[in-house]
Amino acid sequence: MTQPAEDDRAAADLLRLTCEEAIHFLAGLSDRPVNNDSAPPARIALPARGVGFRAALASFRDIYGSSLTGSVGPRYFGFVTGGTTIAALAGDWLTSTFDQNAADLTSRAAAHIEASAVAMLRELLRLPDTFSGRFVTGATTSNMVGLAIARQWWGRQLGVDVSERGAHGLPALTVLSGSPHSCIYKALSILGVGRAALRRVATERGRESVDVAALRDALAARGGQPCVVVANAGVVNTADFDDIAAIAALQSQFPFFLHVDAAFGGFAACSPTCRPLLEGWEQADSIAIDAHKWLNVPYDSAIQLTRHPTLQAEVFQNVGAAYLGAPNTDDALHLTPENSRRLRALPAWMTLIAYGEAGHRAIVESSCQCASLLGERIADSSVFRLLAPVRMNIVVFTLSSPDPTADDVASFLTRLRDSGQTYLTQTTYGSVQAIRAAFSNWRTTPQDVERAWRAMLESVR
Ligand SMILES: *Cc1c(COP(=O)(O)O)cnc(C)c1O
Repeated sequence: MTQPAEDDRAAADLLRLTCEEAIHFLAGLSDRPVNNDSAPPARIALPARGVGFRAALASFRDIYGSSLTGSVGPRYFGFVTGGTTIAALAGDWLTSTFDQNAADLTSRAAAHIEASAVAMLRELLRLPDTFSGRFVTGATTSNMVGLAIARQWWGRQLGVDVSERGAHGLPALTVLSGSPHSCIYKALSILGVGRAALRRVATERGRESVDVAALRDALAARGGQPCVVVANAGVVNTADFDDIAAIAALQSQFPFFLHVDAAFGGFAACSPTCRPLLEGWEQADSIAIDAHKWLNVPYDSAIQLTRHPTLQAEVFQNVGAAYLGAPNTDDALHLTPENSRRLRALPAWMTLIAYGEAGHRAIVESSCQCASLLGERIADSSVFRLLAPVRMNIVVFTLSSPDPTADDVASFLTRLRDSGQTYLTQTTYGSVQAIRAAFSNWRTTPQDVERAWRAMLESVR
């Protein structure tokens, strides 16, 4: 039987061993299959007596070592999957090592690191410091927090503090959006607003960006009732962007809270060519941005930004009742869904200090170049058909056969995954069964795109 104290006496050796395990994983990353369908092993029963960490690590390697996928590697183009820079990875290790409770007000360092990482991100993304920001676990939670602030704003417009008395008796809250991410529905469900509150507004012809004239009509039809608009800055399918400046301009005529889902699209701000896509986003009331995608920090990490910290504190303040005091807008404890939380900002702080603005701009630009390289290969080929112009970091295309079925696409993707070389996701574009490739990993090079392309050609029947 091993007790924690015994392992602690061997801590230096055991942690070096762990480090070697990590180095070994990273060294083999480029050749690790992107996909692994092998059945999970039978569950191990809780040992009555522990075996100690050295043996636990060996068991882990035996059981799971070969089934970990190379999703953090350079040819995983599914969903929008970020990589991990070395500085971010090391920052994450240290977050666990220090194990600070970032909600603990006796540790000012944690709050300072978070504020400093948020300030650097604002600079990187060229947002004014009228936005306050907090780290949360992902864009889903970040969108949920933004919509919780929106709900509080909406209640205030109707003369009700929803954080105190709930939304009982109020008219239904309406949320308007062109191409919302699925997590917006989830957030509305969690918040008790309900999925049905989301009204899809028409998109521009052949695009996923909202038709601003249709949005204007939908707002006008509300007869002055306040509502929420979710603008999309980077739709996952085609990286299309709403015209945020035009949407924000509507706020002078209609009362609505503008939330921007910029999970990956916010990083367009890093690149002078892509930056205009975000024009007007500084007028948003709240913004969701993922860090575990294009910032290349490990899961799970995102930032929630808002210009309404008081409304945010009304929702999240950790006191029995509001009359106990004015809401505290300084401490994360009163601003995020969690109370105790990890020092999630440290990986972001490390990577921003280590590589700076130029380093992170280079990651964004190289992702875009890899996307356009794949787009060119597809446009020039006779076996695939590009479905939309390559926007930023996403390529959406299909098989060149006249009307590929979902099964055709699925079986191509299965063959491709089984090659272990690259992972792409299935989607639909309009009514067409489609495939998409998204680039957001710093490790991906043009050589990786060529290697993925060869595998794609070999997987076509
Ligand atoms: C990825 C993504 C989300 C959800 O983010 P998670 O990090 O998976 O919670 C929401 N919106 C957009 C546009 C995304 O790309």
